[in-house]
Amino acid sequence: MNVYDSARMADVLAPQGYAPVDSPDDADMVILNTCHIREKAAEKVYSELGRIRQIRDRRAALGRTTVIAVAGCVAQAEGQEMRVRAPFVDIVLGPQTYHRLPEMVARTTRAGGVVATDFPVETKFDELPEASAPQGPSAFLTVQEGCDKFCTFCVVPYTRGAEFSRPAAQIIAEAKKLVAQGSVEITLLGQNVNAYRGPAPGGPGPDGERWGLARLIRALAEIGGLARIRYTTSHPRDMDDALIAAHGEVAALMPFLHLPLQSGADRILAAMNRGYRAGDYLALVERLRRARPELALSSDFIVGFPGETEADFQATLELVRAVNYAQAFSFKYSPRPGTPAALAEDQVPEEAKTERLHRLQALLWGQQLRFNRSKVGATIPVLLEKAGRHPGQLVGRSPWLQPVYLEASAAGLGRIVEVSVRAATLNSLSGRLVAPVMEDAAA
Ligand code: SAH
Ligand code: SF4
Repeated sequence: MNVYDSARMADVLAPQGYAPVDSPDDADMVILNTCHIREKAAEKVYSELGRIRQIRDRRAALGRTTVIAVAGCVAQAEGQEMRVRAPFVDIVLGPQTYHRLPEMVARTTRAGGVVATDFPVETKFDELPEASAPQGPSAFLTVQEGCDKFCTFCVVPYTRGAEFSRPAAQIIAEAKKLVAQGSVEITLLGQNVNAYRGPAPGGPGPDGERWGLARLIRALAEIGGLARIRYTTSHPRDMDDALIAAHGEVAALMPFLHLPLQSGADRILAAMNRGYRAGDYLALVERLRRARPELALSSDFIVGFPGETEADFQATLELVRAVNYAQAFSFKYSPRPGTPAALAEDQVPEEAKTERLHRLQALLWGQQLRFNRSKVGATIPVLLEKAGRHPGQLVGRSPWLQPVYLEASAAGLGRIVEVSVRAATLNSLSGRLVAPVMEDAAA
C-alpha cells in the first residue's frame, strides 16, 4: 500500500515537472512516506529528517532550495509535534490527503511555511488525476481504505481512518487503463480488502446498490488481457461464501491467499478483538482448500501479545502445523501509543518475545522451504516482471507469488511463460523456459 501511495504521489506531482530520482542527494523535493504500524516509527522519521536536513543545507550553500515533506501515518500521528521537533519540514500530510500535494507544494514554494492539512477520506479517490504512470506487468490498485475493526494492538483505524470503498465503476475503469498500459496482473489493495462494499456501476439497479469483493473480482476477470488477479490484505471475518466460491470458479484469481491469523490461542484472539476463534480459522481454511485445492496460504503473526503464556504460544505453533503455510510474516508485539493493548499491565518481557519469535520463524521457514521444494520438477506458469540479478536473467512470479529466476530475453517481459522448475531456496525458485520466447509474438 505504501508503494502504491508513493507512486500516486509521483503521479500527482508529474504535471508540476517533478520526476522520481534514485537518491535524495540532489533532489528538489524529498518526501518521506511513513508507516506507523510497528516499532519506533516516529524516531526513525526524525533521524532520517536529520540526514535530509544536512542535504538541504549543502544544497542551500549552492543556492538551491529543497522542499521537505512528510506523508503518511507518522505525519498524521505526529502532526503538531513535528512542527516543534522538525520546524524545517515544509509539508506534513496525512495518508488521505496526497491528492492535495501539488497545491501544498505550490503554497510552500511561493509563500514558505508549514502546511499541515487533513481532508475527508471520501474525496481522496475522486480527486486523483486520471492519467497515471504505467506500473509494469504487475500493478497495484487500491479498492478500499481504512478499517473499523479496532483490533486492540493496531493503529490502522486511528491513522487510516474509517472503512471506505471506491465505486466499482471507477475501479473497473482504472483496471482497464492499467491493462491497456501493459499490466497483466492486478493486486487489489486495502487494509481490509475483503470488507469491500463499493457502489455498483450505475448505482441502484437489479444488482443492488453495492458490490462485495467477489462480485468486483468477477467483473475484473472479464477484462481481456488481465490474466491474474490477487488481493491483499484480507481479514478472516470478511471471507464470505461468495468470495470462497470465487476462489473455486474464477481462473484468473491466483491460488494464493494472505489470511492473517495473528495467534492460535482463543484467549489471545479474544483479547485482540479479532472476532474469530482458532477453530473458525481452521474451518475457513478447509473450505477454501475444498474450493481451490492448490490454494497456498500466507499469514501474519504477533508473538508476545500482553498476557500470552507459553501454552498460548504453543497453540499458535499447533495451528501453524495444522495449516501448513507457504509464506508468513511474524512480529514481536509492539505497543502502539493510543491502542488498548499498550495499556495492558501483563506485557510480555522482551526476551520471551524474541525467543518465541525465533521458534515460530523456524517452524514457518521450514514450511516455506518445503512448499518451495514441492515445485521442483513441476512446469509452472510464470509472469516475467523484470530483469534478474545477472545479464540475460529475468525474474517473474509463480501463481503462488514465489519469485522465479530464469534465463530469457528481455522480449519476454510482461508475458506468462511455462517454466520447468529446477531448484528451490527459502525465498525463490529457479528454472528453465520450456519453449523460447518468440521475439515477434504479441504479449
Ligand atoms: N488488516 C490486516 C493487517 C494489517 S497490519 C489484518 O487484520 O490482518 C499488518 C500486520 O502488522 C498485522 O497483521 C499484524 O500482524 C502486524 N501488526 C499490527 N500491529 C502490530 C503491533 N502493534 N505489534 C506487532 N505487530 C503488529
Ligand atoms: Fe488493524 Fe487489520 Fe485489525 Fe484493522 S483488522 S485493526 S487493520 S489488524
